[in-house]
Amino acid sequence: MAVLWLDEISAGDLEKVGGKGASLGELTGAGLPVPPGFVVTADTYRSFIENANIDEELFEVVDVDVDDSSALAAAAERAQELILETPFPEDVREEILEAYREVGDSGEEAFVAVRSSATAEDLPDASFAGQQETYLNITEDDLLDRVRSCWASLFTQRAIYYRQEKGFDHSAVNIAVVVQQMVEAEKSGVMFTSHPSTGDPTMIIEAAWGLGEAVVSGAVSPDNYIVPRDGGDVDVTVAEKKVMHAKDEETGETVESEVPEEKRTARVLSEGEIDRLVELGERVEDHYDTPQDVEWAILEGTVFMLQSRPITTIDEGDADATSATDAGDITAGLTDGSGTQTRAADSAESATEAGTGDVIVDGLGSSPGRVSGAARIVTKLDELDKVGEGDIIVTEMTMPDMVPAMKRAAGIITDEGGMTSHAAIVSRELGVPAIVGTTNATTTLEDGQVVTLDGDKGSVLEGDLVSPEEEAEPVEEVRPQSPVKPMTATEVKVNVSIPEAAERAAATGADGVGLLRTEHMILSLNQTPAKFIEENGEDAYIKELVQGIRGVADEFYPRPVRVRTLDAPTDEFRQLEGGEDEPHEHNPMLGYRGIRRSLDRPDVFAHELEAFRRLYELGYDNVEIMFPLVNDAEDVYRTKRLMTDAGIDPEKRTWGVMIETPASALAVEGMAEAGIDFASFGTNDLTQYTLAVDRNNEHVADRFDELHPSVLRLIADVIETCREHDVDTSICGQAGSKPEMVQFLVNEGVHSISANIDAVRDVQHEVKRVEQKLLLDSVR
Ligand code: PEP
Ligand code: MG
Repeated sequence: MAVLWLDEISAGDLEKVGGKGASLGELTGAGLPVPPGFVVTADTYRSFIENANIDEELFEVVDVDVDDSSALAAAAERAQELILETPFPEDVREEILEAYREVGDSGEEAFVAVRSSATAEDLPDASFAGQQETYLNITEDDLLDRVRSCWASLFTQRAIYYRQEKGFDHSAVNIAVVVQQMVEAEKSGVMFTSHPSTGDPTMIIEAAWGLGEAVVSGAVSPDNYIVPRDGGDVDVTVAEKKVMHAKDEETGETVESEVPEEKRTARVLSEGEIDRLVELGERVEDHYDTPQDVEWAILEGTVFMLQSRPITTIDEGDADATSATDAGDITAGLTDGSGTQTRAADSAESATEAGTGDVIVDGLGSSPGRVSGAARIVTKLDELDKVGEGDIIVTEMTMPDMVPAMKRAAGIITDEGGMTSHAAIVSRELGVPAIVGTTNATTTLEDGQVVTLDGDKGSVLEGDLVSPEEEAEPVEEVRPQSPVKPMTATEVKVNVSIPEAAERAAATGADGVGLLRTEHMILSLNQTPAKFIEENGEDAYIKELVQGIRGVADEFYPRPVRVRTLDAPTDEFRQLEGGEDEPHEHNPMLGYRGIRRSLDRPDVFAHELEAFRRLYELGYDNVEIMFPLVNDAEDVYRTKRLMTDAGIDPEKRTWGVMIETPASALAVEGMAEAGIDFASFGTNDLTQYTLAVDRNNEHVADRFDELHPSVLRLIADVIETCREHDVDTSICGQAGSKPEMVQFLVNEGVHSISANIDAVRDVQHEVKRVEQKLLLDSVR
């Protein structure tokens, strides 16, 4: 039997039909409205490769050094070729086509969806096993080819790379294929039958026009409905839905199109439809006896269920903490950031008075949390060894080589630097409390002195003021959170600077990465790019970039990751081996950095672009490219030419610029005409260049004001111009983590906000609040 009908399948058939197939069979059996269909079993795939005698060669060719990109590409190509070029045995062919004909309604040719359903349960993210492959609106002519394409999707470069990296045996993964009647959905979306973080009896429904692909892939911001299951008021947030996926009547293919004007801001779900979804949601949850994450679709008033999975993120231990912080607010579980730092004490009352408690040093609290430990004054790199677990690093300024010691440390204090300095950025991503810009910590504190660091207030106190109970608490990673997209129309993303932070960042449930700074990858090589290339060759350099970016892109896939090309000022490069060749600049912040340097050295920049090209070739279609420190359309046209020269199609890929200089803000219209897809506010630089305040100079830190009316005016004008030109806007500077800036931006209509890891939840919270207020104001 090559196929099994959905009504013959139950959860116990996982090995035969994969996760998706088993879930659909189970739902069908429970009498839920699932579109009819069948599964081409995993055994069919297995016999196909075995009977054709291609199995051995298949597993042999994919056993390659995945860091050798040309070997990997060749392996994927050969493996897929083996599958795609092997004909179906006649009996299997007939059986599949016969089943297909039964799916059709009364003699008409059926349109079906063909989806892969991988069986490797031990893969933490089965998407890497090829589960991404889905073909919509398929008819008899293409059916068999599509089934084979699903099988071949087990051997994309990404899938091979992933299994190899994680040590999974290629031959242990099988794949089934679901063939199911298409529901030409008028509306569709996802539903959580209980609150995904707290488990509260509240359903959360996201809905948009057309096929569900637009919602699942994140192409559209869906409407959001929060429905208390005990019958309270439904909380509705209507989003602007710009695109939808639907069948093109002429070609029969699924295409993305613009939502007609009158439907863009119209509410998707009626009361009746919500009631029906809730009813079905309760039935699914009862059936499985655990909360579910359901994909659904509606056609001519009928609701269909397309998929159901358990929600795995509800954390029992969490529920109390969450409701205590923000009782009654449904987004609390997703947005409350205070629970992420167990090292942090929030009340001084709990302190044991082991010291005087006097404030001995003051600075900028740049990474939250309260800790105590022995101060270790680090003045030279070779003193890093003296920093042990639980010590507090005290230094003039952190450097890239210090990252391993920063990971061991309980806290970090620096003399220099502002909120956007290396120390501030890295400590936040590591989740280590920090204070920067104290001016005198290295001279005031003594080596070995026990102090308490308060990263919220920015003060260092004498003695150990952290209670033993607090110390006994384990340091928790960012608590696992829901993979659910935040319940906001404005997207909330996260900033990542060190690839090691990618997992923590992804666990926040953010909508993607708004800024991945590549310079930290380079800085961690401890050599300037020129030096590294001199010693290891161009290819090794490109591979380093591919490797670093890939780690983050994998962690977030398919959520978008906006990767910025190199932007390190020469004084940062000077610290590295090879740095002696960097030009001496009077003011590096105004100097040879960002796109200026890239355009000046297109030969070096070409390596970065080549890394992007390889990533696209590897299938990382979630990678977007962002160019720093551009000033005008001329910069953009020149950059675009270099992209094209490097084999990256600017029309096909998503790319854009940072708005970091007043010039770029004033010139955004020309840049929009040059073809950018997005403009992202780098408020760290935009503030420094608008106010003429060095962002790293602690002497003028009190003048560094991202909310200065002049900065805000530039931002507001850019958002307006971009809206007229259909260019997305976002923020990825430090200010995106500040509630006041969030309020301002949401009111101005920004598309997305990218925040620091520790601030993502609070920002989601704030965005939600402002959006709701806007909504209320509009109906009042
Ligand atoms: C900015 O300028 O706001 C920004 C995000 O870039 P960086 O901090 O890396 O200069
Ligand atoms: Mg910048």
